[in-house]
Amino acid sequence: MATWPGGACPNCGEYMPQALIHCQTCRALLNDELESDSVEVPEFVPLREIATMVDVEPGGFFIGCPICDRELRINRKYEGERVQCNFCSGQFLFDPESQQIETIAFYVKCAHCSEELRAARKYLGAKVVCKHCGGKLHFREGVK
Ligand SMILES: [Zn+2]
Ligand SMILES: [Zn+2]
Ligand SMILES: [Zn+2]
Repeated sequence: MATWPGGACPNCGEYMPQALIHCQTCRALLNDELESDSVEVPEFVPLREIATMVDVEPGGFFIGCPICDRELRINRKYEGERVQCNFCSGQFLFDPESQQIETIAFYVKCAHCSEELRAARKYLGAKVVCKHCGGKLHFREGVK
């Protein structure tokens, strides 16, 4: 599971409720899965294999709630709309480009094996391989 299960912060020992991204006391990163993506940048893609590369667009994003800092998964269809956090019931405008919103990662369905992939924001626009099936994907920057 990607999310913090709740418990003592490994850095400062303060109790932190589940699904937080950062410790509210010391700001230590609690969600270590934020580092692990389900895609990799291929070391080398020979020219003849480029035909197997499939363009895909993100289905949505993982963001930090601007109010309670818990990790939220939001479908792209809500872009530009006011949304409500499941944890704190706080409402905010979901704008992935906004400074208020911490966009951690995005999710996308692999066009080859249909598994859902999670990739850090830096992979938008990148050509990658799926960790489940090895299929090659190009993440189109369909964002705005
Ligand atoms: Zn802490
Ligand atoms: Zn919240
Ligand atoms: Zn795949």
